[in-house]
Order: sequence, then structure tokens, then C-alpha cells
Amino acid sequence: MGKPILSIVVPCYNEEKCVQLFVDSVAKIKLAVAYEILFVDDGSKDGTLAAIKKECANKRNEGVKMRYISFSRNFGKEAALFAGLKNASGEIIVTMDVDGQDPPSFLPQMIAGIEDGYDSVATRRADRKGEPIIRSCFARLFYKLMCKFSNVALVDGARDYRMMRRKVVDAILSMPENNRFTKGIYQWVGFKTKWIDFPNCERVAGDTKWSFWKLFKYSIDGILAFSTMPLQLASGLGAVVCTGSAVSLVWIYLRALIFGNPVAGWPSLVCIVMFLGGVQLFMIGILGAYMAKIYLETKRRPMYFIAEASDS
Ligand code: UDP
Ligand code: MG
Repeated sequence: MGKPILSIVVPCYNEEKCVQLFVDSVAKIKLAVAYEILFVDDGSKDGTLAAIKKECANKRNEGVKMRYISFSRNFGKEAALFAGLKNASGEIIVTMDVDGQDPPSFLPQMIAGIEDGYDSVATRRADRKGEPIIRSCFARLFYKLMCKFSNVALVDGARDYRMMRRKVVDAILSMPENNRFTKGIYQWVGFKTKWIDFPNCERVAGDTKWSFWKLFKYSIDGILAFSTMPLQLASGLGAVVCTGSAVSLVWIYLRALIFGNPVAGWPSLVCIVMFLGGVQLFMIGILGAYMAKIYLETKRRPMYFIAEASDS
């Protein structure tokens, strides 16, 4: 078997029901290039690793190289993607979810895009069908905020289903940050990218690993990783509050000159003091969030540990 040209990197976390379906769905597509499938088991607690090993041992996919890496615990999809990209051997690399939401039927079109001279071929969902309304509202808001606040123009609906040339992958791997927000990293490295739209697909089996709050936290991480705008918010707000208070001072002084100085207004004073206290705490919170990220980055901890891997 020759060296595979295409590496398919597949992060898996508790996906025992999806592994075999995934391999079968890829096998159905006749790819013009030799390929390998590299599973990254992200510390699954169910039978995912066993299912992956079974697929690797299975001879029905002759000519397809099957490999796996298994983490010592769950490190998250970002770490799994990084490990997959780092260990992929192909000249072209594609990252795909194992749950069928990234249809393999697009692979030939993506390969054609690379052959046409694009450095990467990315996909995005054309709609958000099947997603709770509140979730899509927040997703839209997040993309808007991200565009305003940072210098990476994230694409709404972009998936992690992306085919890249080796040089793009090397660029991604050269970014050593631990707080990885892959969607931002893809945009940040640049390169000539072709976009393919496809309708949203439901998972073939199993459940999503993303609760609303997990997604919310993830989007905050994205903003912290790619924007320093919240840090500048304090100066802006400070300037507004200073101007406001200077204007009110003049107004209160004039009013006292004209109408005298009846003692009143302590409830409004309390409100103002509490409001300012709130603004200050909020700003300290933002500082804290950035500081926490700096603290974690300075530890230089490895992104993951490999507990087990296939032989080659
Ligand atoms: N995944 C992972 N580690 C995690 C969570 C998810 O490797 O901690 C994998 C998961 O197995 C799947 C992909 O990332 O292949 C996308 O996850 P999921 O389908 O839950 O996300 P969604 O499509 O709902 O955004
Ligand atoms: Mg999914």
C-alpha cells in the first residue's frame, strides 16, 4: 500500500454507534486518491475505542489505511483536532465529524477544489434547520460580535469540515496557543479558500456533546482568544461616565444657584453608586477573564496526552 495522499482526521467522543457508520459512508464514496482515516478518541467513556479498533482490524476496507490515537482523558474537540492534524501523514488533510453531519459525498468536490489550486476547501451550513431558535439567535449574535470586535471575519455556519493542503496545516500547527478556537485559527492563517454550502444534516446516531451553556462558554473563549476589544471597553465606558458626571455637575451647580439647594435625591445617589460599582466589577471581571487565559497559557501544559495509539 502506497503512502496515503489524503488523511481524514476524525475526532470522536462517546460515538460508539457512529464509528462503523462513518467508515461505511466514506467507503461508499469512490475517492480518486489513496487515503487514510485517523481516528482521535478523545477519552471516550463508552465503547468508542473498541469500535475504532474493530474498524482498524477489519480487512473489508482493503487499501484504506486506518489508524487511531486515544487520549488519556477527554481533552475536548479542539485538542483532538490538533492531535489529528499533527499526526496526519497525508499531503492533503480533511477534518470531519464522525456523526454524519459532515457528508462524505462532498469529498470528491473538495479534492477537485484543491486540484484547482485552492489551499483549502471549507464548508458551511446553508441553514440552521433542526436547531432550537434561541440557539440560532445566539449563534447569529456571536458571529456579529466577533466580526465587530476582532480582526478575523468568522463565517456564519462554517463547519470544521475542511480540506487543507499540508502548508495550511503546518501554519495551523505552528500556532502554539493552548486556548484554541479552531474556527478563528482557520480564518486567521488565511490562504486561498473555496467555500461549499450544504444543508444542515441531522446526526446519524448518538447525542450532541454541546449543551447551550457549553456553546456559550465556547463563544466567550472565542472572543477572548481573538479580540482585545473587551479590554478597551473600560476606557470607553470610563470616558462616557466622566463626561456624564461633568455635565450633571454643571447642571446641579446651576440648578442650586437658580432654585436654591433643597436636600433631596439620595435614592438616585444610591442608584448611581451601585451602577458604577456594577460597571467596575464587570470590568474587573473582563480583566480577570483575560488574566486567567494568560495564566493558563504561561503554564505551557501539553494540550493532550496519548494513552494508546495504533502501530503505524
Ligand atoms: N467531539 C470530541 N470531543 C469532545 C466533544 C466532541 O472529539 O469533547 C467530537 C464528536 O465526537 C464529533 C465532533 O467532535 O465527532 C462534533 O461533536 P458534536 O456532534 O457533539 O457537535 P455538534 O455537531 O453538535 O456541534
Ligand atoms: Mg455533530
